[in-house]
Amino acid sequence: MLVVISGPGGVGKGTIVRRLLEREPGLWSSRSWTTRPHRPNEADDAYVFVERDVFLAEVERGGFLEWTEFLGNLYGTPVPRPPPGADTVLEIEVEGARQVRQHDPDALLVFVVPPSAVEQERRLRARGDPEHLVRQRLDKAAEEESAAASLGAIEVVNDDLERAVDEIVALIADARRARRG
Ligand code: 5GP
Repeated sequence: MLVVISGPGGVGKGTIVRRLLEREPGLWSSRSWTTRPHRPNEADDAYVFVERDVFLAEVERGGFLEWTEFLGNLYGTPVPRPPPGADTVLEIEVEGARQVRQHDPDALLVFVVPPSAVEQERRLRARGDPEHLVRQRLDKAAEEESAAASLGAIEVVNDDLERAVDEIVALIADARRARRG
């Protein structure tokens, strides 16, 4: 099963996915590729950081399950190869979620939202992006929320990390049961 976690920048998707992986041994995640420059305070292995020509060659080769351009940079999920029996968790933006749904109508789509716009702005600024990028990401967030709603993604509010993770763990358990029939 594919579990897609989307949501606006600064909402805490990365932390949620890390906690999900710690709590649920049956989950597996891949590392995305991006052409975005590495942020100063970001782990070296947060992404596979590549130049645009390398990314596009991988697209040509059919190496991505989904890929898109987001705020001027390319992002893509390599075709997942989870260990047998594991479900794959993807932390991707909404256009990628749409592509995943097209490829697998049974994928579980979750859209994480911040408890408030004020809190989201605070989290975005704390990442150290320049002001114009913070503004751009806030505008993009509103657009993504309506796109996610039209895909039928399930909204989860990240008001408290463990509570939000509990909710997603329960959604995954329900989806697994539904698939077993
Ligand atoms: P950031 O630049 O903040 O790391 O990521 C920007 C957006 O791209 C986030 O919404 C993030 O979830 C999304 N993203 C990260 N990896 C991928 C990917 O492989 N595919 C798609 N479609 N989006 C991704």
